[in-house]
Amino acid sequence: MANPTEQLTAIDKSGKKTPHEYYLLKKYEILKCGDVLKLIRRWTANEDPIYFATLEDTFDIIKRVHIATGHGGRDKMVKELSKKYANITHDAIYIYKSLCIECQRKRKRPTTKGIVVRPILTRNFGSRSQVDLVDMQAMKQGNYKWIMVYQDHLTKFCVLRPLTSKRTAEVAY
Ligand SMILES: [Zn+2]
Repeated sequence: MANPTEQLTAIDKSGKKTPHEYYLLKKYEILKCGDVLKLIRRWTANEDPIYFATLEDTFDIIKRVHIATGHGGRDKMVKELSKKYANITHDAIYIYKSLCIECQRKRKRPTTKGIVVRPILTRNFGSRSQVDLVDMQAMKQGNYKWIMVYQDHLTKFCVLRPLTSKRTAEVAY
């Protein structure tokens, strides 16, 4: 089936029109820009025309507005695009925005702030350590349900012990 632009130009304006042709004429209009025919929403000449973007142009239009608004958010882009285009969906705008590499970089920046902390310095073996418990309750061995991982902070020397519970007293012992 021909696209609305072709259908519209094919209508014989002086002849008898079908209901569908009436519908098209009521809804759309063709704007001639040089040699190019552009499909627009039927308009009154004192306002700016609202265009129907073709599928091939949609990506470039969204990209242009996204950059023109300084990598604007969805609402900013929707506002800009609705001034000029009738058929750019919120979904398309949202997808473009979520895939913009520049925006992804910007979003990640705040989370990397404050990550650099002062390192903890340990002078002697055995003076500071880190303990982690591995939950083995689903595969217990006799009464043992936990693996305690004890790591010396200075040397990274590691000790493993099976535990029957994760009670403070048992872990400390
Ligand atoms: Zn962006």
